[in-house]
Amino acid sequence: MCHELTHISYKDHISVIMWRILCCLFWFNPFIHEMEKEFIHAMEHRCDRKTVQHFKLPPLQYAQSLLTCLKRSMVHQHQYQGFAHFSSSALSVDEYKQRLIDIVKPKRMSQVSVTVILCVVSIGVLFTKYITKPIFNVTPPAWQYPVKNISISSHFGHISKIRNNRPHGGIDFIGTTGTHIYNAAPGKVLIADATSLASKYGNVVLIQHSNGYQTLYSHLDDFNVEAGDWLKHYQVIGSMGSTGKVTGAHLHFEMLQNGQRIDPLSKYSN
Ligand SMILES: [Zn+2]
Repeated sequence: MCHELTHISYKDHISVIMWRILCCLFWFNPFIHEMEKEFIHAMEHRCDRKTVQHFKLPPLQYAQSLLTCLKRSMVHQHQYQGFAHFSSSALSVDEYKQRLIDIVKPKRMSQVSVTVILCVVSIGVLFTKYITKPIFNVTPPAWQYPVKNISISSHFGHISKIRNNRPHGGIDFIGTTGTHIYNAAPGKVLIADATSLASKYGNVVLIQHSNGYQTLYSHLDDFNVEAGDWLKHYQVIGSMGSTGKVTGAHLHFEMLQNGQRIDPLSKYSN
């Protein structure tokens, strides 16, 4: 009885509810489930210790009374319920053994343990956020133009004899050789060479972005990134040129979403 009142005085019932919510939100994280078990163990031990101190009971006698209580509430072979704890998952036999040992020989788990576990879990939750971010890729890229001075000579879908009447797969920005070219969004460089794609593209940089987007920059005079580079910010990745099949210096810029070419201008508000 005193044990249960100690739980209430520590607001453990609220903690347990918080743990259940946490486990539902981070069901895929085994670390959270493990820490929940540790927390319940530490919480029970803290209450056992307080009860022993409050009634000045011999720890052995208290352990024996709990054991009697446990035997009475035995439901089936390896699972016990109603034994002075209110977590939804009943503790295993080994966990009860450890709890009884902790009462008789108090050495681990205390108020400090409870606090330490809560701190570790808070860090764990933050860590989970950073782990899951690249997995779920929920943030769409924030697009910027690949050139500073925007002058478009050919739009997406434009049909011309130069391309054998096939619709234009990207947009052409005109400028002079050496004009700085920027990555349109943060991402990882997949290709930076003149050989991986068709020779008509000349020097090419291909970047993988979040949410299945890719951007391609072709006819570059030169590039200063390598395949495998992570571009965390917006930076100069190369310079405008006239390599490959061209009639003059320009940037042929393509945007792909899940392997399909899309109109890059649909991603820019102005
Ligand atoms: Zn083009």
